[in-house]
Amino acid sequence: MSRGEFDLIRDLFRRRVKAAADLPVGIGDDGAVLRPPAGDLVWVIDTINAGHHFPADAAGAQVGRRALTVNLSDMVAMGAEARWALLSLTLPDAMDEQWVTSFAGGFLALAEEAGVSLAGGDMTAGSLAATVTLLGPVHERPVTRSGARPGDAVLVSGTLGDARAGLPLALGEAPVAGADDEWLLDRYRYPQARLPLAPLLGAHASAAIDVSDGLCADLGHILEESGVGAEVVAADLPLSSALRARHGSDATDWALAGGDDYEILCTVSPAERDALMAVAKKAGVPFTEIGRIREEGALVIRGPDGRVLPAPEGFDHFHHD
Ligand code: ADP
Ligand code: MG
Repeated sequence: MSRGEFDLIRDLFRRRVKAAADLPVGIGDDGAVLRPPAGDLVWVIDTINAGHHFPADAAGAQVGRRALTVNLSDMVAMGAEARWALLSLTLPDAMDEQWVTSFAGGFLALAEEAGVSLAGGDMTAGSLAATVTLLGPVHERPVTRSGARPGDAVLVSGTLGDARAGLPLALGEAPVAGADDEWLLDRYRYPQARLPLAPLLGAHASAAIDVSDGLCADLGHILEESGVGAEVVAADLPLSSALRARHGSDATDWALAGGDDYEILCTVSPAERDALMAVAKKAGVPFTEIGRIREEGALVIRGPDGRVLPAPEGFDHFHHD
């Protein structure tokens, strides 16, 4: 892209960002000026690369939305409210303006929904990639990966494995046959950051993480940081009706190991469990209890017949870090 095109893109973002009291100086100067509230802030950054984190031919709006969603999901897992964003876009020489306009539309529509102000960014030429940082205050206290204790319940929001089922559809490796496939494809293309859960985690959860790499991998991070183990009951994993209908035999494996669902996985003490389940349900993002934290430092997956299942290997054919 040319210099002039970069100027157009900057204007495109600038025109659409509204003034905000907590952002006295936004896009257009050498730096942004923020007016943060008192207390701790959480700060996250995530990059998505074409061909690694999204199909290289994905529509602009989809990529713009995903770039923000993966970061919003990290903020939710920390129990924080995203307020300000920076966006670094790397665009190939051959990229057309229409794609970038669509990217901006997807990004800014979600930013508005989520109450995030785009405070600035950068643009360079190269392989298609988008890096976003988000900054904002914690709701009550930061929720980390290290707070899980033996006896805590393990909860996960929504359903698991859907994005894994949608991926081959998005890559054109399998035909989209019917409404269930459409729904699974959307679950891959348009993951939802579970924004309503952010304040609830701070009030009730002992540890949390968002499921980007797969349940086993991400629960593994909590166990490692907390110095505990866990038992997960395979039969209790929340599976969507679309996943069951289309992939009955793979559904459990994909729920255990498939990535890109961006659901929230958390642990909660027995005393807080019912309260968290109730407020999450009321907020429209119900949790399912899938297991318990244990003293012994390993992840055990209990199969339907009571036997221990081998831990599935992570699917790594597309989603790499
Ligand atoms: P500089 O050379 O001073 O870094 P830039 O051309 O990189 O200037 O940026 C000029 C202004 O445009 C800055 O305020 C910057 O934050 C903003 N900006 C640049 N790229 C983007 C983008 N992709 N999204 C939002 N704001 C951007
Ligand atoms: Mg710059």
